[in-house]
Amino acid sequence: MKLLVTGGAGFIGSAVVRQAIAQGHHVVNLDALTYAACLENVASVADDPAYVFEHADIRDRAALDRIFATHKPDAVMHLAAESHVDRSIDGPGDFIETNITGTYHLLEAARAYWTAQDRPQRFRFHHISTDEVFGSLGETGQFTEETPYDPRSPYSASKAASDHLVCAWHETYGLPIVMTNCSNNYGPYHFPEKLIPVVILNALAGKDIPVYGQGLNVRDWLYVEDHADALLTVLQKGALGRSYNIGGENEVKNVDIVRMICAILDTKIPKKTQYADQIRFVTDRPGHDLRYAIDPTRIATELGWRPSVTLEEGLKKTVQWYLDNEDWWRALQDREGVGKRIGKG
Ligand code: NAD
Repeated sequence: MKLLVTGGAGFIGSAVVRQAIAQGHHVVNLDALTYAACLENVASVADDPAYVFEHADIRDRAALDRIFATHKPDAVMHLAAESHVDRSIDGPGDFIETNITGTYHLLEAARAYWTAQDRPQRFRFHHISTDEVFGSLGETGQFTEETPYDPRSPYSASKAASDHLVCAWHETYGLPIVMTNCSNNYGPYHFPEKLIPVVILNALAGKDIPVYGQGLNVRDWLYVEDHADALLTVLQKGALGRSYNIGGENEVKNVDIVRMICAILDTKIPKKTQYADQIRFVTDRPGHDLRYAIDPTRIATELGWRPSVTLEEGLKKTVQWYLDNEDWWRALQDREGVGKRIGKG
């Protein structure tokens, strides 16, 4: 297939781009190259004849129309977004603009292109979203595809709005969509403002390792390459108009995942004290969702998809990747806002 991937210079989008090329697809990577982007994430495929980069913003309708007309994609995989909850607390405007208005422009450009192509039913607009749209769970229960939306941060509210737009474009205009809502990802190329890279890099630098509140918030972690695999599976096998929850079957409290990473570093780069001694509990994020957990029954039973990497394996691979790729993360640590405590409200 020829795939138009938005946000393909980001963390998850770049994993999708690399995996799609490896599977033999053609990829047009559309990215505005915001602070969160890094073209090195796709350096391994940059010279592949099946890969093209388009520097464009999803809020720019004229650019979108040109890109659809030029490349004539068989499917769109829409990952471009503002994605950091803490940044959404300090500056929600960019989240409204990109995640809601940008998705609207992309839907309209896709609809115009699809209509001009005589509305092929095999065309797909795959919207990539998050489990955070479902809100916060208590001690028990899991999110299913039927869980009512209850977003609680500017980020998750903007993603929820974009999900509703995508469903509306399917119901109203018949645009052939699929949608996925995934749990927290981790792995190589994770931008150094997110929890897992912060833990690895602060531990290595001998700095405090900040843990919000008491570290009791639970997340369901998924290795990013598994997410990319799930997305390509849903794109090719998912039922028209259907949404799929994607999870890692790995529920862990934040403080426990931080301790797991510290224990891996104790083995890989031993020092006189333990890395866990650097953990510091800091002021919590306002409105911090307590627990996310995915019920993966639908994607497992209907599409036969399961995660392939255990949390222990994935964390070891991730830590090793950061040890092997210091040039990559050092360059990003100079970017605006990285390494500072933001999002305190
Ligand atoms: P990211 O922040 O690493 O990458 C986002 C990419 O989108 C960047 O390359 C950025 O330049 C690009 N972008 C931002 N605004 C743009 C615009 N206006 N026009 C064009 N490009 C723009 O994000 P990520 O963690 O890779 O997440 C990708 C998608 O997956 C997002 O939609 C996010 O909501 C969703 N998601 C993320 C997670 C997670 O754990 N990171 C989990 C579930 C779902």
